[in-house]
Amino acid sequence: MALCLYNTLGRNVEPFTPLEPGKAGFYGCGPTVYNYAHIGNLRAYVLHDVLVRVLQRSGFAVTHVMNITDVGHLSGDNDEGDDKMVKSAEERGKSVLDVADFYTKAFFADTERLNIRRPAVVCRATEHIADMIALVKRIEAAGFTYAAGGNLYFDVARFPRYGDLALLRPAALRAGARTGADGNKRNPQDFVLWFTKSKFENQALVWDSPWGRGYPGWHIECSAMSLKYLGEQFDIHAGGIDHIPVHHTNEIAQTEAATGKHPCVKYWVHNEFLVLDRGKMSKSAGNFLTLQSLVDSGYEPLDYRYFLLGGHYRSQLQFSFEALDGARNARRSLREKIRALAEARNANNGNANNGNGTGREKAAAWRASFNRALEDDLNTPRAMAELWGLLRDSEVSPAAALEAVFDMDGALGLGLAEAAAESGREGLARGEAAEIEALVAERSAAKMAKDFAKADAIRNLLRERGIMLEDGGAGTVWRRAR
Ligand code: AMP
Ligand code: ZN
Repeated sequence: MALCLYNTLGRNVEPFTPLEPGKAGFYGCGPTVYNYAHIGNLRAYVLHDVLVRVLQRSGFAVTHVMNITDVGHLSGDNDEGDDKMVKSAEERGKSVLDVADFYTKAFFADTERLNIRRPAVVCRATEHIADMIALVKRIEAAGFTYAAGGNLYFDVARFPRYGDLALLRPAALRAGARTGADGNKRNPQDFVLWFTKSKFENQALVWDSPWGRGYPGWHIECSAMSLKYLGEQFDIHAGGIDHIPVHHTNEIAQTEAATGKHPCVKYWVHNEFLVLDRGKMSKSAGNFLTLQSLVDSGYEPLDYRYFLLGGHYRSQLQFSFEALDGARNARRSLREKIRALAEARNANNGNANNGNGTGREKAAAWRASFNRALEDDLNTPRAMAELWGLLRDSEVSPAAALEAVFDMDGALGLGLAEAAAESGREGLARGEAAEIEALVAERSAAKMAKDFAKADAIRNLLRERGIMLEDGGAGTVWRRAR
């Protein structure tokens, strides 16, 4: 079976066939860094991470691009409300860039704790203003803009496919729509490409442009940066479902108006929301849970990742501490089970057939059904059920089971290899584990630098000390030989 994804554009589950064989260009909308990410935002990034891992497992070389929004994002999607960055900087008595730096660092600290791998390209909006201006010029030259009240607007009436992604019918919308707060707009769906002397006299960051000194609208950054790093047409674009009707709809209009090519993105992947039992979580309203608040309540970040993987990304997921308790307990049993398997495997080391025997075929069957679940539109709950099925299968030998578990964890990112490694660490002198970790890290660095002689020398040194290394999808793990 080949990887299939639900494509919002067309509303179908489709086989994934990239524009260029063997490669996958992927753009995921990144955070607006005016505050900590809330646990709902983190749901989006765990999905992006799983998608990248699954694409890689399926053999694609992935280029993952993520933007960091540090300018232009208003609290209302339709060019209404406050500028989120400016408001946050004023409240904190800091500069916009200081606020952006602080929350960008906090964001990556969170994603790292969740085993979310860092995208190949992380690009900040404020560092791409020239690209945005160049793109707006192209859109203007193609005849899709008008100036009004000091701003430059995108004229949706000139773009007949406007709203295809969201199944919006512009004519119908126009008939029933209110004009909106911005009287400059010819149509309520028109949106700002470049602001000049419009609403925010206090905008801290402004740039010169052909339309006057000002700053970009929010949507243009994603078009400009995806064009720059992935080209005029690329494979996958992801974000939360809230982005379908405005942000992504506008991105398509901008990019395709400039390039004349359709579709700019082949597959649109959207995650449903995480909701609280007490309603919607909102960063701007301040009533939200962060990863750190879960840690402060005694959970580990990976308990939250486990909780998220237990829901399919296209279903709304209700967060509650009871549900998180369930995930924590399940993850605990999972790790105990893996530790026990590791003990059994280590005890078997040296036995004639090493306990691998017939169980290998059954383990391969579990692996195959696990892969099928993920290939079926990233069905992580089913994949986790297959993992548990494997662990409960007494016909699979410990060694074969562990090998399959580590392989599966390459997609799930639950740190399961570490759980197995813990089984071989009892009885080490204090400080010895840290010393071994340092040598393992040094060996990984040597391997990265293709210094295989050094890598082998470290492996031999550790073997002499009775430490065995295993290289797997999730990195190198070590254990004591028995
Ligand atoms: P923002 O930082 O507000 O630009 O949002 C970052 C990402 O989180 C976007 O892809 C949003 O669509 C997504 N998002 C926002 N709220 C939630 C939520 N409650 N559940 C899941 N995803 C969300
Ligand atoms: Zn975006």
